[in-house]
Amino acid sequence: MKNNLVKISALITLSLTLLVSCGKGSEEPKQDQPAATTQTEEAAPPQVEEQAPAPLAENELVIEGNDNMQYNLTELKAKAGKPITLTLKHVGKASKKDMGHNLVILKPGTDVEAFAQKAMKDVASDYVPQNDPSIIAHTKLLGGGESDTITFTIDKKGTYDFLCSFPGHYSMMKGKLIIE
Ligand code: ZN
Repeated sequence: MKNNLVKISALITLSLTLLVSCGKGSEEPKQDQPAATTQTEEAAPPQVEEQAPAPLAENELVIEGNDNMQYNLTELKAKAGKPITLTLKHVGKASKKDMGHNLVILKPGTDVEAFAQKAMKDVASDYVPQNDPSIIAHTKLLGGGESDTITFTIDKKGTYDFLCSFPGHYSMMKGKLIIE
């Protein structure tokens, strides 16, 4: 019995020693790069700063399109009568030809589906019919990694449809811009 106990406690001691040495082992590589660790910690504030712009300035809108034919937002809000700055970012990798994205804001009352059907035929103008009276503003057509920022003002409060007019995208890529 005593022998067994001794063996068990010896095993426990051994296990603990292993655990401790394992722990030390995994810490050691970090100690090899104390500067890097410190830098990472010091680099943390800029990361916070990157996240901080989420509450953007008034009338500053940012929306993303991806390779899965999706916007990251389906609702945007802005104030009437003041310039709106809208940035569309294509965060994917696909080319403009395969998975192009734009953002077209339409006047209230526009038949979105009819507009999309008309727009997708307008290859020469990147699927944005020129001088179309139903268009309030639009970005250019983007490929992966590109972005475009536009500025426009909407005076009238209300809900405005927006969509990507690339062929076949509007069923997935659409949303509402609410002007308050
Ligand atoms: Zn698109």
